[in-house]
Amino acid sequence: MYDSVVPAVASLAGAGDADLVDIVRGCGAAAARAEAVKLAAIVELWERRRRPERARWACDDWDATAAEIGCALNISSGRASGQMDLGLALRDRFPRLGRLLAAGQVPVTLVTTIVFRAALVVDPAVLARLDGVFVDAVRAWGLLSQKKLETAIDAWIERYDPDAVRRLRTGMAGRSFTLGDRDDRTGLTSAFGRLATPDAALLAHRLGVMVSSVCEDDPRTMDQRRADSLGAIAAGSLVLSCRCSTTDCPAAQVDDGRASSFRIGVVADRSALDASPDPQMHGDPTHSQPEPEARQPEPPSEPAAQPDPAPSPAPERRTAAVIPGFGCAIVPAPLLAELIAHGAGVRVLDNIEAITATDGYRPSAALDRFVRARDLTCRFPGCDRAAVFADIDHTQPYPHGATHPAGIKCYCRKHDRQRHCST
Ligand SMILES: [Zn+2]
Ligand SMILES: [Zn+2]
Repeated sequence: MYDSVVPAVASLAGAGDADLVDIVRGCGAAAARAEAVKLAAIVELWERRRRPERARWACDDWDATAAEIGCALNISSGRASGQMDLGLALRDRFPRLGRLLAAGQVPVTLVTTIVFRAALVVDPAVLARLDGVFVDAVRAWGLLSQKKLETAIDAWIERYDPDAVRRLRTGMAGRSFTLGDRDDRTGLTSAFGRLATPDAALLAHRLGVMVSSVCEDDPRTMDQRRADSLGAIAAGSLVLSCRCSTTDCPAAQVDDGRASSFRIGVVADRSALDASPDPQMHGDPTHSQPEPEARQPEPPSEPAAQPDPAPSPAPERRTAAVIPGFGCAIVPAPLLAELIAHGAGVRVLDNIEAITATDGYRPSAALDRFVRARDLTCRFPGCDRAAVFADIDHTQPYPHGATHPAGIKCYCRKHDRQRHCST
């Protein structure tokens, strides 16, 4: 559709500097126009798919349309749902802004920020007024930093609808606690939020007690001890195990639950676990390799760490694991070794050759464990729900489809229904 303004990459080498600037400008405008057409097409598809009688279904027409759009754009259903919200907001709440996008005069990122910041405005008259203000101001906003842009948008919203800004600020200042950030490094997960002050005081006191309970030979910094104490609290413990190298330290004898709460499910060869803890990781020089057979099984309600089903060919056999109930977060080899060294249970799953087809509908316990460990998450495209909480379903309806590793897979409840639901 936009081939006339989007030249081939191979032609750029022969273009002059001014031509390149024109190409950048033209492609930016073409991209904005394409986004407007894409969002309008998404809204049109949604209008054709929606059926009022299905509005209260657990897997309704919105979910089905989001799945269809997600497949078309190769994005998750959640992101597709966000695209549907954006398209509807430009049609119903900010139509003049939508026309500016369709004219290629404003980037979709800027429009998305405005729509998000104004999400709490509900008065139609205020929306119409803001739509006009934004259209007049938006051309100058493209040069602003993200923070200044948000401030400028909020200033206009506050002028016409102070309650909306107050609601937004109240929401931002409310209690919250979030785990994980896109910038997290492997093996580390960010935690940030706002606690009620009395709760924060309780936590500060508890952490102070726990970090002081280890002996002075514990090699960890105070920051590391506080972080580890939070893990112990999450495991249901109010004590922190000491990591000193002395044999008579009473604090070293206690189990703080940070490792023993996990059970490592081994799909690859057991020798894949023969990595050593990294003494530099936590300043701990004392790890020794445990005997996995001695470990006790852990409660099934705890998250299970599952190793990567594809064994590494590296001679060191430094195999990482993933935690399927926590977004398939990767547990790097040294951290996996440390978990095992400090009490994580180890269970070797049955070899795939030993799992044969059965005549029954329900998979055996061994086959159930193997399929959940293999799939890790719901198999629906873009879905991250953990396989440990999913249903196991036949790819081909039973009895035509065999109850065999090749014939069954994991789907979360919602996508299991969606698979069987005709639109
Ligand atoms: Zn100690
Ligand atoms: Zn799913």
